[in-house]
Amino acid sequence: MKTKKILLSEHEMPTAWYNIVADMPNKPMPALDPRTKKPVTAEAMGRIFGEELVKQEMSTERYIEIPDQVQDLYKIWRPTPVVRAYNLERMLDTPAKIYFKNEGTSPAGSHKPNTAIPQAYYNAKQGIKYLSTETGGGQWGSAMALACQYFNIDLRVYMVKVSYHQKPYRKLLMNAWGADVIPSPSTTTQAGRDILAHDPECSGNLGIAISEAVEIALAHGETTRYCLGSVMNHVLLHQTVIGEEAIRQMEIAGDEPDIVIGCFGGGSNFAGIGFPFLRRNLCEGKKTRIIAVEPASCPKLTRGEFQYDFGDTAGMTPLMPMYTLGHDFQPADIHAGGLRYHGAGPIVSQLYKDGLIEAQSVPQLETFAAGMMFAKSEGIIPAPESTHAIAVAIREAQRAKEEGTPKTILFNLSGHGLIDLYAYEQYFEHKLTDYNVPDEVIRKSLDSLDKIIR
Ligand SMILES: *Cc1c(COP(=O)(O)O)cnc(C)c1O
Repeated sequence: MKTKKILLSEHEMPTAWYNIVADMPNKPMPALDPRTKKPVTAEAMGRIFGEELVKQEMSTERYIEIPDQVQDLYKIWRPTPVVRAYNLERMLDTPAKIYFKNEGTSPAGSHKPNTAIPQAYYNAKQGIKYLSTETGGGQWGSAMALACQYFNIDLRVYMVKVSYHQKPYRKLLMNAWGADVIPSPSTTTQAGRDILAHDPECSGNLGIAISEAVEIALAHGETTRYCLGSVMNHVLLHQTVIGEEAIRQMEIAGDEPDIVIGCFGGGSNFAGIGFPFLRRNLCEGKKTRIIAVEPASCPKLTRGEFQYDFGDTAGMTPLMPMYTLGHDFQPADIHAGGLRYHGAGPIVSQLYKDGLIEAQSVPQLETFAAGMMFAKSEGIIPAPESTHAIAVAIREAQRAKEEGTPKTILFNLSGHGLIDLYAYEQYFEHKLTDYNVPDEVIRKSLDSLDKIIR
């Protein structure tokens, strides 16, 4: 009998997160204060984020222990399965073996609770009573709402307006878990009011929603902090439980992945699956290809520039070294809301600059076709974000067929799409299109940056 699902027991769950900074040949450059252009101090960062999270943000320790209480909550759904996609392989008639790690099994339906839970835990331990955050597709907001209720923290979520309307059930999930949800841009903040004065019809984006959430956190004082679901070093760190589990599961399967794939918004699920495998490239001389997949309509890695830029649209965050399209870049209203972000996290950006990881971009229609193929073969309806990883797994499996090489492919299924069926409806009705971003649009947005890296 062939094994389909590779499961770990609870006591095999990793007890530490992996901090790739310890093994990077070039460490990520520091975040800068936009006024002084000097590195941001832990103290300044601590006004926005929880104290322990700031320590993790700046840590160079290779492993950071996962607190017991966090491990206990992880066990609600972790360890997650690795599944061999035999049916998809058959449909593609490929000699490649395709495996996927299913992070859609969490209560919120994505990988995001892997970091939401420790973030709520460390903030609660510090006495924080109120958190603010933003959400694109609604996945991060719902993960954070889930986590906050375990620790009696009140949460306000600024939800990108286009998703607020496209995904009413995500908002209801957040409400069910006790969070207050506001469509962004809103009139509750100066950042939101400024954008609306300029463009009353603005459909919003993650950068704007971050500006609003940071502004509210700073305005509320000592018992309030802000939290972020991607991009930052500590977020990527927490997600490494995915790859740590996957390494053990691939060992059990008796296979070695040649290619590891994750879709790419700010880098958290990509880092989660990819960094533990990258450690083996950096420390053990392995040669696994690790591929980040972004939407063709928001191509920061493949067409952006490595530069210091704000993490938000209004320019309230520190300047971060990242591959960016410029913080003014307004991505098209594609359905992969979690991938509509102008920049890539600093660690991933440095690794990409150093040629240690790869990136590909995929147009929207190819991602939905891949998602449908996956749904038909493996039964799971993938999140529109995750279909990007599936599309490249399919591309690589087809290439393996053309070249006659039996490659082993592992991709991260970052979430299920059961709350994204509206997007599939649009696809079925042929209402979706590909958006090619003209070079001039990217150029214009990049030209407006204060070029700190010369
Ligand atoms: C948020 C999200 C993403 C994108 O964010 P990353 O930080 O790049 O992982 C991808 N897939 C799903 C299902 C998401 O919810």
